[in-house]
Amino acid sequence: MSNCIFCSIVNKQIPSKSVYEDDKFLAFLDIAPGSKGHVLIVPKIHAENLLDLPDEYASSILPLAKKIAAGMKKVLSFTDFNIIQNNGPLAGQSVNHYHMHIIPRYDGSEVNLWTPHENDPSVTDELASKIREQIG
Ligand code: 5GP
Ligand code: ZN
Repeated sequence: MSNCIFCSIVNKQIPSKSVYEDDKFLAFLDIAPGSKGHVLIVPKIHAENLLDLPDEYASSILPLAKKIAAGMKKVLSFTDFNIIQNNGPLAGQSVNHYHMHIIPRYDGSEVNLWTPHENDPSVTDELASKIREQIG
């Protein structure tokens, strides 16, 4: 997609600090990192979000995230990290090209990804069963 920033990075029209590349994925340092060494993994095809991403990409990105995180840990000396992947603007997605975040956590860094709520009585067994039916 011509107006997609991550397509432009994949096509090398926009520079990035890349840490990994293969036939399916490019991984590079986030320009506005949540912490030092924050990496993004993007597929080399334009897919907007997880539901758009072909299964051959979906099934290979998690093993790749393991490999990249292991390499990052050796250089950056962290032990803990978050894998985050936002789908849609309400979920915090700002670039509409699927991407996975690997965010190192360092001593003293705050983790505040969501606010837990009280148990909601409308979340019933019936709701779970309706969702189960849709998944099949
Ligand atoms: P999202 O909020 O969509 O889950 O994450 C998008 C991420 O892309 C943000 O963390 C943002 O800093 C990063 N980002 C946006 N534009 C660029 C860019 O041009 N280069 C790099 N390296 N990262 C970018
Ligand atoms: Zn794109």
